[in-house]
Amino acid sequence: MSNEPDLYRPVVGGVRHRTEGQGRPAAGSTVELLCGARYQVSSRTYTTHVYHDCPACDEINQERGDQRA
Ligand SMILES: [Zn+2]
Repeated sequence: MSNEPDLYRPVVGGVRHRTEGQGRPAAGSTVELLCGARYQVSSRTYTTHVYHDCPACDEINQERGDQRA
């Protein structure tokens, strides 16, 4: 569990998603979330409260992890 890379995980509306990209992309660029949605990176770096992780992103991430194992 500790060898998970530092992937960019944007928070959208209190839901934390997963992406395949490492690090924070440039503001204004669009990233594709694991669950299939798209997210445009904001130029603002305000703190957003995280209510829960996106279940679809977690499920896909888990499936990919199983394939790697
Ligand atoms: Zn998601």
